[in-house]
Amino acid sequence: MNQRVASFMELVKARNSHEPEFLQAVQEVAETVLDYIAEQDIYNGKNILLRMVEPERAISFRVSWVDDQGEIQVNRGYRIQMNSAIGPYKGGLRFHPSVNMSILKFLAFEQVFKNSLTTLPMGGGKGGSDFDPKGKSDAEIMRFCHNFMAELSRHIGPHTDIPAGDIGVGAREIGFLFGMYKKIKNEFTGVLTGKGLSWGGSLIRPEATGYGTVYFAESMLQTKNESMEGKSVVISGSGNVAQYAAEKVLHLGGKVLTLSDSSGYIYDKDGVDAEKLAFVMDLKNNKRGRISEYVEKYSSAEFFEGETPWGVACDVALPCATQNELSGEDAEKLLGNGCICVAEGANMPCMPEAVHKFHEAKILFAPGKASNAGGVATSGLEMSQNSLRISWTREEVDNKLKDIMKNIHDNCVAYGTEDGYTNYVKGANIAGFVKVADAMLAQGVV
Ligand code: NDP
Repeated sequence: MNQRVASFMELVKARNSHEPEFLQAVQEVAETVLDYIAEQDIYNGKNILLRMVEPERAISFRVSWVDDQGEIQVNRGYRIQMNSAIGPYKGGLRFHPSVNMSILKFLAFEQVFKNSLTTLPMGGGKGGSDFDPKGKSDAEIMRFCHNFMAELSRHIGPHTDIPAGDIGVGAREIGFLFGMYKKIKNEFTGVLTGKGLSWGGSLIRPEATGYGTVYFAESMLQTKNESMEGKSVVISGSGNVAQYAAEKVLHLGGKVLTLSDSSGYIYDKDGVDAEKLAFVMDLKNNKRGRISEYVEKYSSAEFFEGETPWGVACDVALPCATQNELSGEDAEKLLGNGCICVAEGANMPCMPEAVHKFHEAKILFAPGKASNAGGVATSGLEMSQNSLRISWTREEVDNKLKDIMKNIHDNCVAYGTEDGYTNYVKGANIAGFVKVADAMLAQGVV
């Protein structure tokens, strides 16, 4: 770590000492952006990054609700409104027992850069709760979502802050949240994205993060005169992002070897084809089952309990489950097996040592804030359609998504290439920073 980064991190650590994920995300940005700032007269000496690491507002609130047994339960809800320099706060809601201030601040911080990269006018935010949706009935989920929104509704709005889904928050939860917001405010507005198609949602929004990640990987492969066609692909997760990443890999002629959840991974030597993927989507989205059930249905597959899939030989790896799920050791296994491209579908799934190893080996590596930006970009397109009161076709939205991902890719190349190698982390951080920093400078010290 150079002196500039060390001094900066000392300041940030003093104020956020109990927030390891947040510090990890900030350090990665500081390592790539501080030297750039020092070289630019317009940014130097303005403490822009120091301002960016402090949330404009961090809200924490009680959510009490009654379970099916009539017991009163208490959870904690949060909304981090990180930066609104280029537009209203925008970012998902996560419902998972691990949720705390550190995780949400890291996600909100990443979101500022990601949203800037999309070139759409969206600031960054994130929120959620330590509520665990697993094993809850639909009625419990509804009561929780309604009580969560009863408080959150005071802090959000179509021109202020527009939440969306994330881990544990899918179409069902967005429906319940939207219903309560509408009741409280007595207005039908685009206050959440990821809505159902018949009530303001956008085509391609469910697919967008996974598809976008694969479009980004394809653009990276093209820089090496390669493509997804014929590539073997290891994917972690089996939720929204993993499912549609797998679908797009299949569209482009790749072979999906693995999927996972928090209980372990399945390896299908024959590949997860379209029919098997439809089974997974039904299992996960409708039956709310476990990925281990895949091997009961398909004998070509094995289930590895409690393990992650990074030891399986592949050309391309797409971590699509959660933060810090791929360690330095895992990176070594991937490199040892000949992996040439890693694109993050999840947020910060690769630990810093893993990213370091990928860079050292000079393989293609895309950080989530660039490669998974397709989800929020399509949320931005959902907001535009809501404001204009129109609906674009599937093809129109998909084409816009492809253009946005290509644009993000090219921006990363422009800012991150040195001696013929593109460091996409550096490219994404600087490209994302510049737009937000320019807006902050124009708006003065607020
Ligand atoms: P889902 O809830 O739909 O799926 C999450 C998947 O990851 C599940 O398979 C889940 O398994 C697994 N998972 C979650 N936590 C862990 C853990 N601690 N260890 C191992 N596996 C775990 O979420 P999404 O697919 O929406 O999100 C996945 C990632 O993508 C997250 O990092 C999210 O922030 C990021 N992302 C999502 C976007 C979106 O549009 N949805 C946009 C941009 C980024 P299990 O069911 O066992 O918990």
